[in-house]
Amino acid sequence: MSSPYATLPEFEYARPSTLEEALKLLAKYGEEAKVLAGGVGLITFMLERLVSPRIVIDIKKIPELRRIEYTEGKGLVLGAAARISEITRYMDSNPRVREKYRALYEALSRIADLQIRNRATIGGNICEALPFMDSYAPLALFDAKLRIASVEGERETTITDFVKGPGFLDLAPNELLVSIELPDPPRESRSGFSKIVPAIEYSVASVAMLVANPVDPRSREVRIAVSAATPAPIRVREAEEVFRREGDIVDLLDAALDRMTSAIKELVIEDPYASAEYRLEMLKVQAYILFKRLLDSFLQERG
Ligand SMILES: Cc1cc2nc3c(=O)[nH]c(=O)nc-3n(C[C@H](O)[C@H](O)[C@H](O)COP(=O)(O)OP(=O)(O)OC[C@H]3O[C@@H](n4cnc5c(N)ncnc54)[C@H](O)[C@@H]3O)c2cc1C
Repeated sequence: MSSPYATLPEFEYARPSTLEEALKLLAKYGEEAKVLAGGVGLITFMLERLVSPRIVIDIKKIPELRRIEYTEGKGLVLGAAARISEITRYMDSNPRVREKYRALYEALSRIADLQIRNRATIGGNICEALPFMDSYAPLALFDAKLRIASVEGERETTITDFVKGPGFLDLAPNELLVSIELPDPPRESRSGFSKIVPAIEYSVASVAMLVANPVDPRSREVRIAVSAATPAPIRVREAEEVFRREGDIVDLLDAALDRMTSAIKELVIEDPYASAEYRLEMLKVQAYILFKRLLDSFLQERG
């Protein structure tokens, strides 16, 4: 629904150029402040009077928050204010990085349209705290570390601990998400992302999956993360464990999908957009298709 208001509520505007300055402003204003990154979500919420901050702190001019950097053996670091399209462009010009973090690339390149991806930032996507955010499942899949700072110091968390549910984050009013660090994925791994977007703009069931060393039971690894169908992102470790059993990986798939269903079924969202039953079924179907796709890519490579 569009906003009945044509104008924004009044607010003060600050555009710090250092992280220190931004943190001092957050410490001073606390709950009266709102961080502005791309503004795609915040400006809409302000137009709709869902939030009316006394001060808006624009973080886009802080160089540290715009970093996009990959270091072999260490991983990928994304500043919270890096735009979605900057990240996918970086990956397009570094195909090895794109393939390492393929599930993230596939998720980010399918957010809304180019206009929105040119403004929206990875940190804003995370901090909007709505279940369908496309960055969630891949960040859970790659064990991303979220770096949070305040004037009191820094701490590190994970996406599954940080996002608590619709509108709820483990983030104090004086804290800022600074960066997202994705460690190098396992060697020889493949990953992918899939979502179901019905008539609405947003996904009702998203899955990210990673497969490494599929033929060797001792070293193989399968990771599964889901979002959009549940209030917050989940790494489905119960299903991942099934793939540690002896035997052909393909023969373990049904048991793993059953474990996934039993692990999350009580948490699945039921709303007018999609029933819980449909969402759960779509998670299973997408996990099945992703698994086959990733496995096929190994087989093709080995000829
Ligand atoms: C038409 C449309 C289609 C969309 N389609 C999709 C889609 O397909 N997939 C998808 O995932 N999303 C979709 N979105 C949502 C969109 O991706 C998010 O609104 C966007 O990512 C928010 O990023 P931003 O940088 O604009 O954040 P902002 O609007 O600037 O901020 C969002 C919230 O996060 C807070 N915040 C931002 N950065 C930080 C930080 N570093 N630390 C602490 N708090 C912070 C802000 O205070 C605010 O509360 C869509 C939005 C629209 C309007």
